[in-house]
Amino acid sequence: MYLNPVDTRKTRRSKLKEALFSFAFHSGLVRFGRGFNKNSLTVLNYHRIDDPDRADFDTFKPNVSARPADFDRQMDYMARWFNVVSTRQVVDWLRGGKPLPPHAALITFDDGYLDNYTKAYPILRKHNFPAIIFLTTNYIESDLPFFWDLVAYCFHHTKLNHIHLPNGTRREWNGRAEGEQVSGELIASLKILSEGEKRDWTARLPEMLEVAIPAGFFRNSMVSWDQVREMSQNGIEFGGHTMSHPILTRIPIEQAKIEILGSKMRVEKELGKETVGFAYPNGLETDYSAGIQLAVKEAGCGAAFTLLNGPSPFEEVKREPFTIRRIFISHRHTLPRFAALVSWVNRYRG
Ligand SMILES: [Zn+2]
Repeated sequence: MYLNPVDTRKTRRSKLKEALFSFAFHSGLVRFGRGFNKNSLTVLNYHRIDDPDRADFDTFKPNVSARPADFDRQMDYMARWFNVVSTRQVVDWLRGGKPLPPHAALITFDDGYLDNYTKAYPILRKHNFPAIIFLTTNYIESDLPFFWDLVAYCFHHTKLNHIHLPNGTRREWNGRAEGEQVSGELIASLKILSEGEKRDWTARLPEMLEVAIPAGFFRNSMVSWDQVREMSQNGIEFGGHTMSHPILTRIPIEQAKIEILGSKMRVEKELGKETVGFAYPNGLETDYSAGIQLAVKEAGCGAAFTLLNGPSPFEEVKREPFTIRRIFISHRHTLPRFAALVSWVNRYRG
């Protein structure tokens, strides 16, 4: 087996890092200075709960936040060290209601994948935890795939071993691992195209890679409205995540307003109750502007969530309720790493 020196260094460094996380976790050091975080809101961000290494997993692996057993252990950790609250409680507090408990935490999911219902929901129920799922409403009960899942699916099933990326470069791969790497590169390069170009490009991909997608395949990858209603009766909240998942700063503001309000209204129509939370697609600093935040507020939301990292002191959440930070969880994170991510140090690690 060949390993280039950069990979070796990287592996050694990550092993050392993991050993440090493990030491901090088992010695309790990870909670040193826990009091600093007492008046903070810690928001976890999940996407999918599944096993990305099962042989038939053929969609976008980096979207898997945790395997079910790991998610269960993370929830045990939250039960022990945090007070998990609902988005409704956060918004009531923001509007002048009851104060939040110390070490408040919120559990959030983006996009609305089916495994939120089949895998995460039973674990949340076991812990009696509220959580919020932000739905991309046009994808629910539709055959439409998210472009990252379509790309990953095509790479998983193609017999070809080369492609021309949108920037014109020809990429070749040997075996599944290399294929996944090229697939990741393609997803990154599609992300920066305009919404129209991205759509056209992805539509051509199955033919380019000579892959046939079984009818209805992607219909079954998201939750259904019936499942949403069932969860809603049992402590799970829902919020908008736009209708079609565009990066809101890359489309005209009038269209962005429709995406925001449209997803909120659809969720409310299906549930018959008000929703108060919203999550920005992609969630990085360039993906929401002051105008977008205002549109979310004017749509009647009380809180909106980014993917800027770290816990937020209560006073910051009060000051900036439309740019609340979240901690992105990946299936690559061990429990000691998770514990470090939800510690106050995570906000100041630079
Ligand atoms: Zn999303």
